Amino acid sequence: MDKMGKEIPLEAPWDARHAEEWDKMTMKELIDKICWTKTVKEFATFFVNVNVTSEPHEVSALWFLWYVRQCGGTARIFSITNGGQERKFKGGSGQISEKIMERLKGKVRLERPVVRIDQTGDNVIVETLNHEIYEGKYVISAIPPILTTKIHYKPELPPKRNQLIQRLPMGCVIKCMMYYREAFWERKGYCGSLIIEDEESPIGITMDDTKPDGSFPAIMGFILTRKAVKLAHLSKEERKTKICEAYAKAMGMEEALHPVHYEEKNWSMEQYSGGCYTAYFPPGIMYSYGRIIRQPIDRIYFAGTETATQWSGYMEGAVQAGERAAREILHRMGRISQNEIWMPEPESKDVPALPFTTSFWERNLPSVPGLLCLLSSTMCFTSVAAAGLFAYKKGLLIRN
Ligand SMILES: Cc1cc2nc3c(=O)[nH]c(=O)nc-3n(C[C@H](O)[C@H](O)[C@H](O)COP(=O)(O)OP(=O)(O)OC[C@H]3O[C@@H](n4cnc5c(N)ncnc54)[C@H](O)[C@@H]3O)c2cc1C
Repeated sequence: MDKMGKEIPLEAPWDARHAEEWDKMTMKELIDKICWTKTVKEFATFFVNVNVTSEPHEVSALWFLWYVRQCGGTARIFSITNGGQERKFKGGSGQISEKIMERLKGKVRLERPVVRIDQTGDNVIVETLNHEIYEGKYVISAIPPILTTKIHYKPELPPKRNQLIQRLPMGCVIKCMMYYREAFWERKGYCGSLIIEDEESPIGITMDDTKPDGSFPAIMGFILTRKAVKLAHLSKEERKTKICEAYAKAMGMEEALHPVHYEEKNWSMEQYSGGCYTAYFPPGIMYSYGRIIRQPIDRIYFAGTETATQWSGYMEGAVQAGERAAREILHRMGRISQNEIWMPEPESKDVPALPFTTSFWERNLPSVPGLLCLLSSTMCFTSVAAAGLFAYKKGLLIRN
């Protein structure tokens, strides 16, 4: 997958050499094509489920390969140490929005969904559900594309944009926090990170979510995609019981059956999120519509994590996209030049992305197709050599 991903330009996946072909393919088709054993097929399915909270048959291969690439590749996206899941915010990531809000000193209005954007006059008019009117020279829309279908536009959106926003569904996940009296898993030397591929287990992946000072021991787990749909009708209590049983079985520790508290959040129930973690591209959309995802519509500019080119689908991507959209407007206002719009993100000093070290065997063991190729060429070489020797002996070859 990393090898295929290298062909895909981060800023323009639709221009990749095999863009059209790979975009017509689902990840399921790609998995069936490149994975040879049941174990690997199951893990590849799980890899899609975890990373984009959707099923391999739902997503475009081009989009998924691009998604993994723009997160730094398969190892970076999936790893905790030196990877996408390495760090948490002391005090929670909600602080990013809260601190920005503090700096803006009362200028942020909450609980006011935008329902209308009118660009027919000198200023852009934005109306909220409670009929408040805001005016500005420009608008940055930083909400998932599909949620912009709730907004009425004047003039109407261009046809391609109108179609694009109907075609990018949100992923599906229930986030579950199980609190315990103590971090009992540590007694067995476990870190609290489980990957559970058992179809009977509601949870697919977990992480230790105990606070940095050791208080509130907890295991955070995700009910992913098909399981989130299947288990949504259960009561919270029923889900809790099933999760505890899965943890007890996976760790072989009956302590998992006795939590002190349980919290969960089904993101698909949020009408202003529509689902999580991010939007996905079904087959056929990225190649035909992808290139307009960041294209402004007159004075409306587009941010939101879906429009990012690095860590799209993550908070990091949301920040990159917001800064880029702001710079696009600064450029339009004549305050910065065109080549200042896309500023490279500075490498993080606190959490640098270090290279991954791989073993000799990881680097050199051939894949199944590689092995077959090697065997057939060896066999081919042996047969050609034998035929050559035979021909030589029989005097059928010209001798110099
Ligand atoms: C369960 C879960 C776990 C995740 N884990 C991680 C993680 O570990 N690390 C990570 O980096 N990312 C994670 N993410 C992804 C991360 O939350 C998103 O990538 C990020 O929040 C996207 O930011 P955004 O600003 O683009 O959009 P959002 O955060 O979705 O913000 C969009 C905002 O627009 C508002 N809105 C919607 N419609 C309207 C409207 N009509 N008018 C006005 N406002 C509107 C919404 O209420 C929302 O506040 C996770 C997401 C989920 C759901």
